[in-house]
Amino acid sequence: MTDKLYLTDAYVKEFDAEVTAVGDNFVSLDKTSFYPTSGGQPCDTGTLQIGDIRNVVDVKKSGEDVIHLLNSVEGIKTGDKVHGKIDWDRRYAHMRYHTALHVIDALVMNTFGGKITGGQIYTDRARIDLDVPGLDREKAESIIKSSQELIDRKLDVTIRFLSKEEALNTKELARTKPGKELLKSLSVFRVIAISGLDMQLDGGTHVSNTGEIGKISLSKYESRGAHNKRIEVKIVA
Ligand SMILES: [Zn+2]
Repeated sequence: MTDKLYLTDAYVKEFDAEVTAVGDNFVSLDKTSFYPTSGGQPCDTGTLQIGDIRNVVDVKKSGEDVIHLLNSVEGIKTGDKVHGKIDWDRRYAHMRYHTALHVIDALVMNTFGGKITGGQIYTDRARIDLDVPGLDREKAESIIKSSQELIDRKLDVTIRFLSKEEALNTKELARTKPGKELLKSLSVFRVIAISGLDMQLDGGTHVSNTGEIGKISLSKYESRGAHNKRIEVKIVA
């Protein structure tokens, strides 16, 4: 099992580790700060120095392991020492967009009586599918404007690990019947909390204060049906 450093500290940019397995084009490590593609957040890229410097071109989950696809695995063997370095600009952008999504999600649910039905984070934008009563471009603009006001309050964002009992007793986590069923099936409850605003079960990476998100702007609005509007948000400063 890979120790996933990004689950407890999203700001680990470099780390030392050891090779635990070598495949045709990938390695597994005993620990890593490379985030694997999942939950709408793209993977990290960067380098692993294992003797030579190798480029990490893709990162995936494989059971309890994280596998790093490299440009070359030549000469690498199990037990080799590794120095890893993630492409921080790329990761930090993902963290800012990911946290912005939480703020928008909380606002949409608490104030606009709707919900986010899908989302994808990119390095330069985030796409969000919304089901909000009466949503049009103007209302979408006001959602973004209100989200900005919350962001500007510089709210703390924290990572917590809850017991199963705590998780089941936290109303915000078990909002729906399927949600409750899902909670019962899990063993690790990692929760991202935005102070006074939102709590979510989550495996992604986030900034530690909403102030780090900066200024967001609505860059696209598209109606895809009565209950499905797609918006695109960009961080502009
Ligand atoms: Zn998240």
